[in-house]
Formats: sequence, C-alpha cells, structure tokens
Amino acid sequence: MADCVFCKIIDGEIPSTRVYEDDRIIAIRDLNPQAPVHVLFIPKEHIASADELNKDNCDIVAHIFSVIPGVAKELGLTNGYRIVNNCGEDGGQTVKHIHFHLLGGKKLEVTMA
Ligand code: AMP
Ligand code: ZN
Repeated sequence: MADCVFCKIIDGEIPSTRVYEDDRIIAIRDLNPQAPVHVLFIPKEHIASADELNKDNCDIVAHIFSVIPGVAKELGLTNGYRIVNNCGEDGGQTVKHIHFHLLGGKKLEVTMA
C-alpha cells in the first residue's frame, strides 16, 4: 500500500529493529516506546484496522497471538504484559495498518479509557 509506513518497513524501505519475523508477520521495536518493552506485531498483508477484519482474513490475529508468548519470553516479560490494539479515529489509531502493541517490563497502569 503506497504511503503506508508499516508497508514500507515490511518492504525494507524504512529501517526498523525487528525482534521477530516469519512469512506472515513482523515484530518491531516501537519508535516511541511507552514502556521498557514496546513491540509492534504487524501482518505483512495490509489490513487497515481491526474494523477491516472478516472471516477470510482474521486468521492473522490468531497467528499473532500464538507468536506473542514466545517473543514476550525472549524479551524477558516473565511477569505479564499488555496487548493493545487501537482502532480508528476514536480508538487513537495513528498508523492505518493493523498492529498489536506488546507492552511490558514494568507494572503498567490499569486504564481502559
Ligand atoms: P497506533 O497509535 O496504535 O496507530 O500506533 C502506532 C505506533 O507506531 C506508535 O506507537 C508509533 O510510535 C509507532 N511508529 C510510527 N512510526 C514508526 C516507525 N517508523 N518505526 C517504529 N514504530 C513506529
Ligand atoms: Zn500497510
């Protein structure tokens, strides 16, 4: 997708620090970390947001969630972590390519809104 920063990262046009990659997803360090560990899990397929998921493309979410525990362990998150997805304008999504934030490395504040 033209002008999508995450598609450019996936294609290697924009540098990133990759902590995991397979044929379907990458995981990179967030440029502006909100916690000691802040990693983004990004499908290689351009899906704009969680609002664009459907029965034909939603397998990728299960795949990401199946990979997260191993990566979390590798990154030292042995005492829990948070997985966040921001969806759309009101959800605070700034990059319009679906991604899941993995946050941890400290006791995170409990906040839902
Ligand atoms: P969201 O607000 O949920 O759409 O999250 C987008 C995230 O992408 C933010 O946490 C940004 O810090 C992060 N981000 C934006 N550009 C880059 C980049 N080039 N490399 C790594 N992370 C980025
Ligand atoms: Zn994209």
